[in-house]
Order: sequence, then structure tokens, then C-alpha cells
Amino acid sequence: MRIVSPLICRILLILLFCAGLLAAAAEPRTPQEEPPAIPLPVFEFHSGFWLNLHHTLYHQARLQRSSTTGANAITTAAGMSNLSPAEARAWNAALAFYAKAYADKDLTVSLEMILIKNQLGDFETCEDLSGAKKKSCDAGLPAQLTQTLESAAPVYRAHLWSEHDRSNRRWITAVAPLVRRSGLDLSHRLAEIYQTPWPRERIRVDVTSFASSTGAYTTLDPLRVTASATDARNQGAEALEVLFHEASHGIADVVQDAIFRECRQRDKPIPRDLWHALLFYTTGEVIRPLAAASPASAALSSAGSATSSAASPSSGYVPYAVREGLYKRGWEDYLRILTQYWQPYLDGRVDFSDAIAHMVSAL
Ligand SMILES: [Zn+2]
Repeated sequence: MRIVSPLICRILLILLFCAGLLAAAAEPRTPQEEPPAIPLPVFEFHSGFWLNLHHTLYHQARLQRSSTTGANAITTAAGMSNLSPAEARAWNAALAFYAKAYADKDLTVSLEMILIKNQLGDFETCEDLSGAKKKSCDAGLPAQLTQTLESAAPVYRAHLWSEHDRSNRRWITAVAPLVRRSGLDLSHRLAEIYQTPWPRERIRVDVTSFASSTGAYTTLDPLRVTASATDARNQGAEALEVLFHEASHGIADVVQDAIFRECRQRDKPIPRDLWHALLFYTTGEVIRPLAAASPASAALSSAGSATSSAASPSSGYVPYAVREGLYKRGWEDYLRILTQYWQPYLDGRVDFSDAIAHMVSAL
């Protein structure tokens, strides 16, 4: 749910990875193995082996670090109970490396983790990452990471990948009809609200078993969404709201800039996360009428029992921020001013600048 400055990203890209990596990254990738018969609008979904392996190791290494039961118990709990001694050695060595090198880094803000994630996504169809079998598959990643992923790959492929890939694809299949039906309309509406053109290219969504503690996150330049297929918050038709919230990170600069500008003009401290609360609020509101009209509205309304002023009794749809209690965790004021001053803009009764000015002056 967080984003990173494109400029810093670009600088770090140069520092972190060698020229070989950049040359390799520029080469055209093999198309997805199973492209949908008719491409979906707005989003392009991927279930990639390397990125899923990377997130699985990262997640297990973090669990292992905070657990007293040790690597074997974590591995067993994750569904890998029948490892041979050689497999267990390879997997535990990979976990030890991830615990040391990456477990303390945040997937959503660490530029190193973001660059690794993007690179593994780009090389998803490669059998290896060192280019040993195919030169164009040299991903140019740090040598120890490449070696770790390549030795953990057979273990992951044998014990977890089929299950992860199946659940990723099931998730994609479930959300695809919603994207096909409402995706374009939603993208146009959000672009109009944020006064920013929607990206011309379809937005890449990497679907993974684990995707950060928030269940989904977005990185910029290039704009990419990573979403967990198994996270309870992303299930059923609600996945649509998660996808459009995440994608909105890519077109929220105008809102952020306007809030900052109004604050500076009024000599007020810039409110932390108001823009993010606004994103949550807006996505929830634009999804609501579609949810009411959709055959999937039953799934939408059954997902949460929470109610509040932001939940519409007419559709039964409970927006993500309400459902997950975000407004109750320090965003109460934000919900108040969004309902009072931003909603009239969404209803077409005031213009964008007036809505932002009213919100900031009411803070
Ligand atoms: Zn977010």
C-alpha cells in the first residue's frame, strides 16, 4: 500500500545492479505461457515462479526470525513436510540467507527489494536466473541471491509451487469477470476524479501467495501491483477494490500535491496519510454502485459485518477501509472531512480545488 519515488528508484537501479543486468533486462521477455483468450482491460495478471519463490522465502525467513520453533517447524507449517535431507538443507540454507540479507527489509519501501521484485517478475519464464541455460536469462541479480534462488527452486517446485500457482490462477479467474465488466469504467472514473490520465499500458499485477503484511502493495516506475491470492482481505469480489486502490497509487500525485499546497498556504502541518485515506475512501465510493449492480454483490455484502457511516445500507457493500477498521485507527478525522468535503466533489457538486481547500481548512 506504499509507494516509492521514481527518481530515487532510478538512481538506485544504477547503483545496485551492474550494466549486465540492465542489458539483460532490456531484452524482450517470452510472453506469458497461458495468455487469456481475450486480454483483460486495465490489468495484466501474472503468476510467476521466481517472484513467488522470493516472497515465500522472505515470508518464511521473517516467520522463522520471530519464532522460537526453528526453521523446520516453519517449513512444515508452510506445507513442506516431506523434504528429503538434501532438500531440507537447500531450503534451510536459503532461509538462513534470506534471514540475514532481506528479512529486515520492507518489501514495499526498500528500493533493493523493489528492484529484485521487478527483476524476478521480468524473468518469470526463465528456467534459471544466471543465464547458464539461456543467455537472455541472466537476470544480473547479486550472485549470492541468484545462487540461493536457483538451489531453492527445485525444492519449491516439488513441494509448494503447484499449490501456490493454482491458488494464484484461481484468484485471477475469480477477479477477471469483474475487471472485464467494470475495469474500464472504473479506470475512467478514477482518472477523472484524480484529474490524471490513467496509464495507457495495462498495469502489471503480480499475484503471489504472500504479498507483504498489507496483502497487496504498489511500486512505481514502472507502476506494478503485487497482490496476495490467499490474503483474507483480497477475496471474492472485494479483490476489485484492492486492485483499484493499488492502481490509484499511480495517479494520486495531483491529490497529494494539492493537499500539500493548501497546507503550506495555510501554514498548517501536512497531515500524514490524508491522501492515502482519500484513496481508500474514493475507491470504496466508486466501487459501491457497481457492487450493488453486480451479481457478485452477494459475495461483497457477505464478506464483512462491519457497519459505519461509510457503508451503504442500499448496496450492503462495506468499503475496505471500513471493513479493516482503518478509520478507527487514527483516521477518524479524515473520515469526517472526506465525508463532509470530498464526497460533494465525488457527487459533482463542488470542484476539485474547492474540495481540497475545504478539507484542509477543516483539519
Ligand atoms: Zn494504498
